[in-house]
Parts: sequence; C-alpha cells; structure tokens
Amino acid sequence: MERLQKAIAASGYTSRRKAEDLIAAGRVKVNGEVISELGFKVKKGDMIMIDDKALKGENKVYYVFYKPKGCICSLSDELGRSTVIDYFPEVEERIYPVGRLDYDTTGVLLMSNDGEFANLMMHPSSHLEKVYEVSVSGLVQGETLHKLEKGVYLEGTKTLPCKIKVTHKDVEHKTTILMIKLVEGKNRQVKKMFEAMGHKVKRLHRLQVGTINLKGLTPGHYRLLKPQEVKELK
Ligand code: URA
Repeated sequence: MERLQKAIAASGYTSRRKAEDLIAAGRVKVNGEVISELGFKVKKGDMIMIDDKALKGENKVYYVFYKPKGCICSLSDELGRSTVIDYFPEVEERIYPVGRLDYDTTGVLLMSNDGEFANLMMHPSSHLEKVYEVSVSGLVQGETLHKLEKGVYLEGTKTLPCKIKVTHKDVEHKTTILMIKLVEGKNRQVKKMFEAMGHKVKRLHRLQVGTINLKGLTPGHYRLLKPQEVKELK
C-alpha cells in the first residue's frame, strides 16, 4: 500500500507535489472513482487514471552516455549551460544522471529513471569501482603516489585506499598522465586529491564505472545497457 501521490510520482508521470495538485483538483480516479483525498492509499493492481487516461508504469531504462566536455550533470541550469539531458531528445522516460561528472570532465556517465538503482549505485557502501584517466601538472613522484593510494584527508575525512598507475610522464611539458581507480565518489574527489598534493588537474576522463566502459561510443552519444550489464552493476 502506498499513497496515491507517491504511486503517481513513482510512475514517472510527474512530481509528488504536482500529483497532489492533480488529486486535489479531482482529476485522478482509482478503480473508476474520483479520489480527491491526499492520504488515499493504493495497492498493486489498482487502476489509476488521470484525466481518464490510465497511468502507465514507466519502463525502467538504463543508459551509458559518453559525456562530452562543456555540459552539466543536472536537469536544468540557471546559467543556461547545456545539460546532459540535451543529448537525449528522443528519450521519453524521465531519466537523470546517476552520479556526477564536472562540467569539464568527460567519459562514462550512467543515466536512468530507476531511483532505487541510482541510490544503490551512489550509496557509499556500494564501493562501485570507477576508473579515471587524469592528466596533472608537474611530475608526480613515487612518494606522492604512495600517499594518495593509502588515503589523504579531504575536508577532515580520509579517502579510501585506491590504485594509481603512471601511464606517461612528459618531462618537457611537466605533465603526468595517470590512471586512478576509486571505490567511492566524493564531490570532485580526483581533483581534490591531486590538488591536495600540489598537482593541478588539467584533464579528467572517466574510462569505466563497474564493468561499463565507452567501447563503441563517441562523445555525446549513448547506448542502452543490456539487462545483464545492469545486473552486474548491482
Ligand atoms: N572527480 C572529480 O574531481 N571530478 C569529476 O568529474 C569526477 C571525479
């Protein structure tokens, strides 16, 4: 049993707040009867109609998106910048990003309309592995790598142990390219970790989330995940 407005919102039709307005306006029927009481409870199998049209349970969809530079991971932006949703004009479901990448970060971003899935992926206990390629200023020393791998304090909390590998050192341009594998996702974590050691992040690219990578995708494009891939993430 759940509240009618919650059931409407869960279907993806609209927000809970707007569902309440619809109910109060007498536009919602349950099993053929107008319900204008906000506390009304519905159970599985009840037929909910809005303006005499049956409410369809929204299909759960899961995408991997190759986020390009220069877009933000929220559904709207006061500054009018482009958002990841702009890349999904033909998708009807109310999808949103699962986690965040910064405006200038590129790479793997999961998108879904499944709230439970999103919570599971983003919960600290999920320990979902994320692999980044990062280009930083300066030549990173072995001792610095060791400290980062063991964990560093960011705003009073220590980062969990992680794995880092140097893939290229450009002595001439004083730049180091590395791969870093994290099992957590604090806000702007990669940038903050390197900045804490005096290395500015010049470029950040997410190669992988769990088993999902960018194979076959180009920036700004996406594909549906297969049910097996979704299962592997959970
Ligand atoms: N860490 C960051 O600093 N930025 C991102 O976009 C992702 C991880």
